[in-house]
Amino acid sequence: MSEKFEVIVIGGGPGGYVAAIRAAQLGLKTACIDNYTGKDGKPSPGGTCLNVGCIPSKALLDSSKHFHHLQHEYGAHGISVKEAAIDVPQMIARKDGVVKKLTGGVSQLLKGNKVSFYHGKGRLGVDRSVQVTPADGGDVVSLQGDNIILASGSVPIEIPGVAFDGEFIVDNVGALDFDHVPETLGVIGAGVIGLELGSVWNRLGSKVILLEALPDFLALADKDISKQAAREFKKQGMDIRLGTMVKSASVENGKVNVTVEDAKGKGTHTFDRLLVSVGRKPYTDGLLGDDCGVRLTDSGQIEVNDQSQTSVAGVWAVGDCVRGPMLAHKASEEGIAVAELIAGKPAHIHFDTVPWVVYTDPEIAWVGKTEQELQAADVEYRTGSFPFAANGRALAGGHAAGMVKMLADTESDEILGVHIFGANASELISECVVAMEFQGSSEDLARIIHAHPTLSEAIHEAALHLDGRAIHRGN
Ligand code: FAD
Ligand code: NAD
Repeated sequence: MSEKFEVIVIGGGPGGYVAAIRAAQLGLKTACIDNYTGKDGKPSPGGTCLNVGCIPSKALLDSSKHFHHLQHEYGAHGISVKEAAIDVPQMIARKDGVVKKLTGGVSQLLKGNKVSFYHGKGRLGVDRSVQVTPADGGDVVSLQGDNIILASGSVPIEIPGVAFDGEFIVDNVGALDFDHVPETLGVIGAGVIGLELGSVWNRLGSKVILLEALPDFLALADKDISKQAAREFKKQGMDIRLGTMVKSASVENGKVNVTVEDAKGKGTHTFDRLLVSVGRKPYTDGLLGDDCGVRLTDSGQIEVNDQSQTSVAGVWAVGDCVRGPMLAHKASEEGIAVAELIAGKPAHIHFDTVPWVVYTDPEIAWVGKTEQELQAADVEYRTGSFPFAANGRALAGGHAAGMVKMLADTESDEILGVHIFGANASELISECVVAMEFQGSSEDLARIIHAHPTLSEAIHEAALHLDGRAIHRGN
């Protein structure tokens, strides 16, 4: 006999566990299946995000930022230490502790909301039946759902000729767990992971070289922002080689030899460690039974419509395994929306206002369109900007680098995009997301009182500048 549920969620990452909690809150009998096992051998729900993604990377970014500031920035404040040292195993243990706390918290939340948790691999069969193969090797369990939510996430893309070995040639998992600071670190792909994890080890003393295939740096970001960011990261010692294709990599005598091709021809690099961060792909291995009827797209994503319904009635999919940006908050919002749709409530996701953040120092954050996208779409727009170098709080805190750039429709003045490169950009962008969600205009932001002295005044000034009336810069 199969146990019956109104909702069965396969995958316990930010898409899956959030969907399960919301479904349970709405009074639906819910199960969540996740196969992730923590370093302690115990279930560790939270997916990539909590275990080997968003959270551990931010823990290491924060640790390495303290170390870097101690060495390079505190002097200006009159603070000195005789000798700064980094204890890598302690830093990694702290990161693991943060992960443990949060994944344990997810287990508690699932329990508290009366979600039945299964630690194992879920496989969807016909008519919304699900088989769970327990992670501890126990007997297969059969479940039956009125609704199934697939939230199986993503895995790193491997490039031909550059095989992961988990020690010298690694993905995000390996680069979050180095036991010492590599003298030299090669990074293939100067995207989000490359920049964040490259920053961690660069701050701790590695010589970091990023090998990026595209001729443009951070092609998704607005060009004014990516240009400033490239300059700043170079100053920090990150060596970003654009237009560089990696051909192969091999390990010899504890070193990684990498062959590349760029405009000048073929070349080689030798590194102590190599991080491959060239994007992620949807993970559906073992998830879909042969006759379950769920279709995949040509690029391997689970095919869904704009309400996250798959090709099978009652089967939904959210997060990294479907179309759209691979971001934790996007996955969670989709999970909530699906749970609400199942419960018969209205729900909708505005993909146009999903914020992006790159947690470098300074941070990069944006919402909406870039100037290049508006030009390509022939949209008439006006631009306003404000440098943090003219913001009192930024100067007081020693964060003068970067700017806010705002784009608004020429006729209606509706905000079409905001791009920030600067300290706390990850927090500052929320105000702009709210403004855009309410279809706000630059005039709205210009008229809203911003506390002084705060970094958010740079957003206020960018809005004023858009109308030629900034106070603290020339117009
Ligand atoms: P996942 O988090 O991947 O979770 C899927 C879960 O399902 C996993 O636990 C997996 O083991 C499990 N699973 C898969 N198949 C099955 C099955 N058949 N049965 C049972 N369980 C299964 N995003 C941000 O928004 N901000 C960030 O700062 C950020 N930083 C990142 C840093 C790194 C290094 C990486 C790698 C990613 C980062 N991301 C970040 C992306 C973010 O982690 C993902 O977008 C997010 O985790 C996707 O959530 P998800 O629920 O779709 O999938
Ligand atoms: P990415 O798409 O951000 O960057 C990959 C980079 O690798 C691109 O610039 C691409 O041009 C380059 N590339 C691809 N093939 C190459 C090759 N053969 N040689 C050299 N360069 C090559 O992917 P990622 O950094 O692996 O991250 C994956 C996803 O995880 C991101 O897209 C993002 O959705 C998510 N993520 C988000 C955050 C965040 O929100 N702060 C942090 C980390 C990861």
